[in-house]
Amino acid sequence: MDFLKKPFSDFDLNHKLLKFRKDHYLRKELEQIEIEADTDRLTGLANRRKMDEFLEALVTIFSEENEPFSIIIADIDNFKHYNDTNGHQLGDNVLSIVASIFKKQIRRGDLAARYGGEEFVIILPNCSKENALKIANNLRFTIAEEKIPFQEKQPLGNLTCTFGVATFPQDALSKELLIKQADKCLYLGKSDGKNKVVSNNYKN
Ligand code: GH3
Ligand code: MG
Ligand code: MG
Repeated sequence: MDFLKKPFSDFDLNHKLLKFRKDHYLRKELEQIEIEADTDRLTGLANRRKMDEFLEALVTIFSEENEPFSIIIADIDNFKHYNDTNGHQLGDNVLSIVASIFKKQIRRGDLAARYGGEEFVIILPNCSKENALKIANNLRFTIAEEKIPFQEKQPLGNLTCTFGVATFPQDALSKELLIKQADKCLYLGKSDGKNKVVSNNYKN
């Protein structure tokens, strides 16, 4: 119905223009609300809701395509110690620094999400376990090398993360089991001294 019959009056034209503008701003506002609903406020990464949705979609798509994809779970080492020593605000700053490293290092089409307080998930479509391990090790190295305020007071001498890696379909066939598998590997890395990358059959 968005048309004007000739000859049209200034009044009709202005009325239509006003309506177009209103619709345009409403659409923009809606887009912004949708982005915010998917985003973690502190880090700017995807939130858990978005991550769940993305992972669910990948399981469906890659089941049909017979291609692998991988997930990485990362957890900051001794983060409670960092908060207790330096305060919650500087702790928040660390979360932002770590998140920006993830954002910078992943490819377009990958998804980095804040999974919980100081846990992150990175989802890598079309990525074998071998490549996911390389990516996780690069992330581990970059974080360990990053100059983070007051990290020298950490038990390991700097701020680090431990990573668990799991690959579809070889490690698990469902979203829940894939996360469980990556989490199990993360736990192994923690008990093995932290600042580690672990997957089934691999430890570094
Ligand atoms: P581990 O090496 O085994 O992972 O030990 P950890 O101290 O990192 O783990 P733990 O689960 O004991 O503590 C996690 C800490 O993360 C506790 C909590 O205060 C902190 N944390 C969770 N969410 C936030 C947040 O949004 N901001 C800040 N600053 N700290 C947070
Ligand atoms: Mg944790
Ligand atoms: Mg931790």
